[in-house]
Amino acid sequence: MRDDLIRRVVIVGGGTAGWMAAAALGKLIGRMPGLSIELVESDAIGTVGVGEATIPHIVLFNRMVGIDEAAFVRETNATYKLGIEFVDWRRIGHRYVHPFGVYGIDMLGVEFHHFWLKARALGDTTPLDAYSIGIMAGLRGRFAHPRPDQPNSPLAKLGYAFQFDAGLYAAFLRRLAEGLGVRRTEGRIVDVQRDGASGHVTAVRLDSGVEIAGDLFIDCSGFQGLLIEKTMGASFRDWTHWLPCDRAVAVPCTLGGDQVPLTRSTARAAGWQWRIPLQHRIGNGYVYASAHLSDDEAAATLLANLDGAPLAEPRQLRFRAGHRDQAWIGNVVALGLAGGFLEPLESTSIHLIQSGIARLMALFPTRGFDALEIDRFNRDTAQDYVDIRDFLILHYKATERDDSAFWRRCRDLTPPEGLAEKLAMFAGNGRIFRRQEELFAEPSWLAVMNGQGIVPRGYHPVADLLSDAETLERLKHIAQVIDETADAMPLQDDILRQMGCTPPPLRQAS
Ligand SMILES: Cc1cc2nc3c(=O)[nH]c(=O)nc-3n(C[C@H](O)[C@H](O)[C@H](O)COP(=O)(O)OP(=O)(O)OC[C@H]3O[C@@H](n4cnc5c(N)ncnc54)[C@H](O)[C@@H]3O)c2cc1C
Repeated sequence: MRDDLIRRVVIVGGGTAGWMAAAALGKLIGRMPGLSIELVESDAIGTVGVGEATIPHIVLFNRMVGIDEAAFVRETNATYKLGIEFVDWRRIGHRYVHPFGVYGIDMLGVEFHHFWLKARALGDTTPLDAYSIGIMAGLRGRFAHPRPDQPNSPLAKLGYAFQFDAGLYAAFLRRLAEGLGVRRTEGRIVDVQRDGASGHVTAVRLDSGVEIAGDLFIDCSGFQGLLIEKTMGASFRDWTHWLPCDRAVAVPCTLGGDQVPLTRSTARAAGWQWRIPLQHRIGNGYVYASAHLSDDEAAATLLANLDGAPLAEPRQLRFRAGHRDQAWIGNVVALGLAGGFLEPLESTSIHLIQSGIARLMALFPTRGFDALEIDRFNRDTAQDYVDIRDFLILHYKATERDDSAFWRRCRDLTPPEGLAEKLAMFAGNGRIFRRQEELFAEPSWLAVMNGQGIVPRGYHPVADLLSDAETLERLKHIAQVIDETADAMPLQDDILRQMGCTPPPLRQAS
């Protein structure tokens, strides 16, 4: 056996990041002989507690750590999510959905949307939404699990995620991680000790005087970055000029309004409001730019736009868009908010934790801490942030709104180079290109570019290999199959009841 193995992993922080890391490490390497995994969290400091909407990759994470979906849904008061509905983003009064999964069926080796663009050119007015099972089912309050075993059904490529209570999710993961041998210590870290020669962190000291020593420290301490920034001095790449929202005010409310398996994002004068329906309550928040709106105005707008009665006092949160230039320095790896933050418009933060864990596992170090491997981790992590950043900026840049200084600023911003190229490629012949490992796949870019009102001038020439009549006929058939499949899916409410949840009656959207 190698003699330079990591023996003691210390996770600093018990929010979603800390407990996801603890559960994953416990599952994947917990049985390594002589390895201990310890998590430190402070009840007095608490967690940020607002990350409640996810993207489909979470299903893989849950599977990887051995979570039973029904138990998870019951115990975290989760609902299903088939996409995000964007209201008033393109212009006031307009709405569209960014669904998980695909649109239609690719034909002749060409993406479906080129045939849809051709049909539009022929005068067909069927909206793109009609070709997405996620949208058609989601808007009707319906849900079913994907059926990869039925390759001819629209359900084969349905994508889904969850909306859950963040506090219950952390508690759920804690039970799981502790069952896998992770040891938890409660207490506030008041001092960090380092090795004089290497600069590596050797131990953290709690207010109780207890010292916890480690070989590898995973910093999940939230925005402050207790180890990565305050101890190791990581710099922060600030993207406020591209993503000016820097605050949020959040409040849960009682159930009311539509209860569809979709997260909703409603654009407001200086940002946007989220609505995340859970089994027992709705999570709400207004993400805004403090340069354009006061905290009091934001809270008043949020409280005036709830579908139920508020269940708590509004909570203010401050942040900066961006990430640490180096998420891994020496023997400290930052995950979660300690590593960076991009506003929750596309529910990507929990995914960034997940991809950080996957990357850490792929490059799990020895006590030699190979500089090349650390550099690879940092470059790939930074690229993840860039990819998501560009997708978020798209929502703000491609808008017709000019009704406030905030929206005029967004419309007028100069997009980063990669995004500028993507916009120009789509506006030309509807081409969507992404790097191999980019998080958001072609259908996501299509959903938002089309939803925000970018209309390509042309389409892929191969689409003309189908005659006009056949193009229209095939599209009509696809939309019909999707419509019928969506109608035959159960209501989400029924699925939740079958899983043993006892939610208050969820109302079907009108
Ligand atoms: C407004 C807003 C909305 C969001 N919405 C979403 C969303 O819809 N979807 C999504 O994916 N993500 C969302 N996020 C992000 C999501 O909330 C976080 O990624 C997630 O909760 C992980 O947080 P964390 O564990 O990194 O930090 P935290 O939850 O802040 O946890 C930090 C932990 O470190 C501990 N700690 C800190 N200092 C010390 C100390 N000195 N001693 C001991 N312990 C310490 C704390 O006690 C706590 O346990 C949102 C974030 C914000 C701000």
